[in-house]
This record gives sequence, structure tokens and C-alpha cells, in this order.
Amino acid sequence: MAWWQNLNQLESAFKSCRRCGLRGGCSQVVVSRGTPGPVVLVGEAPGADEDAQGFPFVGRAGQLLDRMLKEAGFDPARLYITNAVKCRPPGNRKPAPEEMVACRPYLMAQFAVLQPEIVVTMGATAIQAVLGRTIPVGRASTRFYHARHREREFLVAPCYHPSAILRDPRKYPDAVARWVDIRKRVEAAGLIL
Ligand code: SF4
Repeated sequence: MAWWQNLNQLESAFKSCRRCGLRGGCSQVVVSRGTPGPVVLVGEAPGADEDAQGFPFVGRAGQLLDRMLKEAGFDPARLYITNAVKCRPPGNRKPAPEEMVACRPYLMAQFAVLQPEIVVTMGATAIQAVLGRTIPVGRASTRFYHARHREREFLVAPCYHPSAILRDPRKYPDAVARWVDIRKRVEAAGLIL
């Protein structure tokens, strides 16, 4: 079976998941938007707009994300964008540890199919889901990390979640500079998107 058929099958399986209590309080499981490929963006969890429309990063934070990506030279439609947790937590609270544990196998399954070269984590929850440890975003967002999944190494590029920039617009120039930096890594790896 082709890898993209595997991904479709996987994403369909997510839709009927009830592994944690979040599914009972949301409208639908929100899996991904964009194009499957070697650069994967991971956020925290769907918000109200995402829960209503069924795609991640389609609200105000998503619009800001797209703006920053375009400023850095990316076409957002050519990136694969997902979340650490696929169902909306009530009131947009941070996902609880047990909810992150319940949902992490899905993120790992996405990685197994996509085999990403570069994973961009947006916010502290995504860092924890991908790297398995807590690192303050301010410190992490100036560095790159190496991670492994099933014996395959990939680069992890932490950055601020766009919601943090909505809350504090003074972070905007540094946030765009970080995306420019990530773009250079993408180009250096021969992954021109
Ligand atoms: S958050 Fe993840 S583990 Fe929990 S019900 Fe939704 S898809 Fe399943």
C-alpha cells in the first residue's frame, strides 16, 4: 500500500477515537491540514474554530501562522500541519498529562508514515509531545534538537505557538526571524518547499 494510502487510513482511524475524555466534549477529531511531506508542524490542540471546521490552525492563530510562514518564504499549503492532541480541550485549556499520553501514539503514527526530516514544534505542549521532556519555549526557540523515532533521526525546531504572539505582539519580529532560520535549515537539507 502506498504511504499516502496509509496516511489516509490512519487519519480515518483517528476520527473514531475515544481513547480519552476529550472526545466527549468536542465536535470532531481534528487531524491535519496542508500537504503530507518531510516538514511537519505540530501545535498543541484544536481551538473553537478548528473544532467547528475540522482542520488545525484555521482561526486567528492559524491566520497569523500563515502570515509568518509566508514572510519566511514558505507556502503554508505545502506543509503538513497537525497538533499534539487531536480533540479540543474544554475552554481551550492545556491538555492534561493523561490526554497527552493517550493521544501521543497518533502523533507517532503520523511520524511513522510521513518520516519527517524536520518537525517544528509550536509551544511547550508540542515540545513535550515530540521530545518527551519539558523545555521552556524561550530557550528552546533559539536552538535545534535531534530526535529519533523508530531508529530514524529528525531535526526538531521549537518555536513559539502563534497564540503566544497574539497575546504579546512584541514577539512578532523574533518569531518571524525564527521561521526564516527554519526555512534556511529546510533549504540546507535540500527540502525546498
Ligand atoms: S484527544 Fe486523541 S486520544 Fe483523545 S479522543 Fe481525541 S484523538 Fe483520541
